[in-house]
Formats: sequence, C-alpha cells, structure tokens
Amino acid sequence: MKKFTITLMALSITLISIAHKADTIKTTNSHVVIHFIGHGTLMLEYNGKVFHIDPWNRVANYDSLPKANAVLLTHHHQDHLDSIALAKVFTNGTELYWTETCAKLSKFKANGKVIANGNTFSVLGVTVKAVPAYNIVNKRNNGEPYHMKGEGNGYILNVDNTTIYIAGDTENIPEMAEFGKIDIAFLPMNIPFTMTPEMVKDAVLMLKPRILYPYHYGKTDTNLILELLKDFKGTEVRIR
Ligand code: ZN
Ligand code: ZN
Repeated sequence: MKKFTITLMALSITLISIAHKADTIKTTNSHVVIHFIGHGTLMLEYNGKVFHIDPWNRVANYDSLPKANAVLLTHHHQDHLDSIALAKVFTNGTELYWTETCAKLSKFKANGKVIANGNTFSVLGVTVKAVPAYNIVNKRNNGEPYHMKGEGNGYILNVDNTTIYIAGDTENIPEMAEFGKIDIAFLPMNIPFTMTPEMVKDAVLMLKPRILYPYHYGKTDTNLILELLKDFKGTEVRIR
C-alpha cells in the first residue's frame, strides 16, 4: 500500500509539472517544490501541502491544478488578486492571507487574514514574514507610485530553514538590506511597474540570495540580468 501511495504521489507531481516547470529545492530535513505558473504567480508544495501565491487564471487552468491548503496574496492588482482563480483553488479548509485593500476589493468573499508589512505568521509549518513592496522611482502620470508604500506585501517564507523571498511588485527598496539570510529570491523585472534589470541587480547586491529567479518580467529580455550578474558568483540566476 505504501509503495502504491508513493507511486501515486510521484504521478501527481509529474502531472502538475507537465504543464509548468518546477524546481525541487532541498531544505534542512525535507524539500520544497516550486512551480513556476507564470508572470507573478507561483505554487509551492511542502510537506504534502499546497500553497498558491497570487493565483491568476490568465496564466493557468486552475481546474487542473491542486486545491490550496493556503493562499498568499501580495496585493490587489488584477494580476495578483483574481476572484476566478481564488474560487477555483478554494476549499472550506483553505487558509487565506491577503492585504487590507485585497479584502476591500475582492469579488471573491472569504474570511482571509489581513496581513500588513512587518507581520509574521505561521501557516502549515512555514513561518512567513510580510515585508514592504513599493515603488520609489516609477510613478503614474498623476505622480502616485504604481505601488504605494504600506499597501502591498512581499513575503519571506522560512521553509525548514530555507528562506524564500517572494517580492511581489516592488522596486529595490532600502529595506532589502535588512532582510537577513535569503536563500532564494523571486524579484519582479518589468517596467514601468517594478524593476529594470539594473534595479534587480542592485536588489541582489542587498539580498545576496543563493538563487535568483527573476519573475513578473513581461517582455523584458532576461539575458540582461544574466549579463549584469555574470561576475556575481554568490548568486545563481535561474530563468524559468
Ligand atoms: Zn501590482
Ligand atoms: Zn503585478
């Protein structure tokens, strides 16, 4: 029976990874599987639990993806807060963590926990710290930043002593220098909403991650960040 269960688990993981690329990252005592769903959307599997990050139905068919044990939303923009995707991944047991603006604007009504910058919480064996995500340079025509300080969250997940930073929509903000040990960083790289490759490089110099995954990169040429970081031996850049 045990063998049968393991075979089934392996099969389900394979089925998921056919549609999307996935990397398995070794943690101290276990591992975490990161699924690259597309744009700023991720799915993590850890300890048999599924975490959906900013699920967006434009980049995946959520009918064919597993339901969420937990959902983390970084902010309320349509590519991050999507009621259709939320409805599809939700069950009665799904834990939802989002921002105050998400709670206000969401058409999908759920009893989510509102998380602000600086909050720390624990979900399904993972400790999560919410950190700021905002623009300093890039602004709308009316002078407002695309992302206001204090409105959106980045999340630093501590998964069995491996730290995964999912930045959300942000620029290279000075707070990054104080985040402490970051093993894996997901940094957004599209203009005008987030960062240029040069800004991503500056963020990497502050964060010093073991692995950088540029994400949310739209039409940005990913070769640019490979070139900018080619002499920075401490960080492996993975384009997915
Ligand atoms: Zn945004
Ligand atoms: Zn976005």
